[in-house]
Amino acid sequence: MATAFIAHADCARHDMGRTHPESPARLTAIEDHLIASGIAGLVERHEAPAAQVSELQGVHPLRYIEAVRDASPREGIVHLDPDTAMCPHTWDAALRAAGAAVLATDLVIGGCAENAFCAVRPPGHHATRTRAMGFCLFNNVAVAATHALERHGIERVGIIDFDVHHGNGTEDIFSDDARVVMASIFQHPFYPYSGTEDVAPNMANVPLPAGSDGRALRAAVERVWMPALDEFEPQMIFVSAGFDAHVEDDMAMLRFTEADYAWVTQRIKEVADKYAKGRIVSVLEGGYALSALGRSVVAHLKVLGET
Ligand SMILES: [Zn+2]
Repeated sequence: MATAFIAHADCARHDMGRTHPESPARLTAIEDHLIASGIAGLVERHEAPAAQVSELQGVHPLRYIEAVRDASPREGIVHLDPDTAMCPHTWDAALRAAGAAVLATDLVIGGCAENAFCAVRPPGHHATRTRAMGFCLFNNVAVAATHALERHGIERVGIIDFDVHHGNGTEDIFSDDARVVMASIFQHPFYPYSGTEDVAPNMANVPLPAGSDGRALRAAVERVWMPALDEFEPQMIFVSAGFDAHVEDDMAMLRFTEADYAWVTQRIKEVADKYAKGRIVSVLEGGYALSALGRSVVAHLKVLGET
C-alpha cells in the first residue's frame, strides 16, 4: 500500500482570471516539485471522478448545488462573491475536487491506499452549506467526511485544518456535530474573521497572531489539538491542507516552513496510527507562493508515504 495521489486535468482549467492568486499554476507547481524531488514515482496516481450530486447533498442543499450549476457561464467569468468566480470549466473542476476527496475516502477505508492526498482546486474549507466564498464552492473535506460517516459506518471523524485562514465553512457545517472534532490553527484577526466567538465545544481552534512561526504551531498542536484528539479517538482523519501559512506566502503573515509542515504531518500520522488504523485523507486548500507550495506539499507527502 502506498499514498494515493488524486488529481484531474479539469482542476487546472478552472481559471478566475490572470491576476487571481488561486491559479492553475498552483497545480503545475505541485506536479513540478513532485518530479524534481523524485517522489512522483512513489505515489499511487488516481484520476478524480466527478462527485455525484447525491454526494454533495450530504453537506449542501440541492437548491444551493443547482444555483452554483446555474451560475456557470458559457463564456467569461461570473463572480459568486468578491473573491470567488466561475469560468466555463469551474463546475467540472468543483465536481472533480469534491469527487477526489470522496474517492480518497473510499480508497483509504477500503484498504486500497494507506492514506491519500488530493491535489485539487477549487479549494473547499470556506464554503458553508449554502454559500460560496473565499475561492471555495463546495466543501470538499466536509463532503468526504460526511461520506465516511454516512456511507462507510465511520462513527468519529477528526478534521485538521492548518490553512492560514480559519475554515469557517467546515466549522459552519460541523459545529455541535458529536461525530466530528475539528482542530485548527489560523491567523487572527484575519479573513474570514471567524473562529473565536461562540465556538462549539467540538471545535479545537487556535488563533495565532501575525508573525507567529513554527514554534506557535507546535505549541498549539501539543496544548490544544492533541488533548482534544486523544479524548475523541477519531476513527479517520481528514486534513484541510492549506500551505498559505508559509513564510514565503504573502497572502498572510505567518512564518511556517516546510519543516513545520513535515512535523505537523508526522503528529497527525501518529494520531491516525493510534486511533484510526492510519486512515488519513488530506485535501489541498490554500498555498499561493508557488515554489513554497510545491516544496511544502512534497514535505507533507514524504511523511505521509513513510512506512
Ligand atoms: Zn487559506
